[in-house]
Amino acid sequence: MAGRPARVLPGAGLRRTSGAATVECVRGDITAQDDVDAVVNAANARLAPGGGVAGAIHRAAGPGLAEEAMPLGPMGPGEAVITGGHGLPNRFVIHTLGPVYGQDRPEAELLARCYRTALALAEENGASSVAFPAISTGIFGYPIEEAAEVALQTVRDEAEGLRVVRLVRFVLFSEGDLRAHERALSEAF
Ligand code: ADP
Repeated sequence: MAGRPARVLPGAGLRRTSGAATVECVRGDITAQDDVDAVVNAANARLAPGGGVAGAIHRAAGPGLAEEAMPLGPMGPGEAVITGGHGLPNRFVIHTLGPVYGQDRPEAELLARCYRTALALAEENGASSVAFPAISTGIFGYPIEEAAEVALQTVRDEAEGLRVVRLVRFVLFSEGDLRAHERALSEAF
């Protein structure tokens, strides 16, 4: 709901509501989101364990995650697949491949597609809460401010059509990344 005043919760980042869905930004670790149904993995094309988010998710989930996920690959930028959560506290992991900045074009469209496809998979599988990391902003080099705008605008555009997902959480690793997402959230909602 555009124009709604921001509610700042101590330690919980910024939160806005659009229709039936709440969108919030928090600082934290994507592997420690015990209260959400699905966490999103900033995956690589092979769906293999790697660095960054993918490394952390696969370490926390255990080898069963790669065993389930890798046969579903390879993926192209903007695509997503869903698996079980294995050793994670979540029912699902939604794996999406972000664009490599300056290489996979058009970057903004491909990044938006990651968020749309991931939300669609959450809807289809009955996940009512989803936590996203800042896809493409690590090894893939997407500037954080630009990525945050694409991410929050895409969620804003999708929010009205959501029937199952009630909570979309952005989990940011650094204070600077959290601030960029809070700004983008305030602008989008
Ligand atoms: P990509 O390959 O899509 O760029 P990365 O995993 O390299 O993905 O990084 C994506 C973002 O996630 C970066 O901003 C990075 O700082 C952040 N990040 C790394 N590890 C974690 C984690 N455990 N929880 C949340 N965010 C993380």
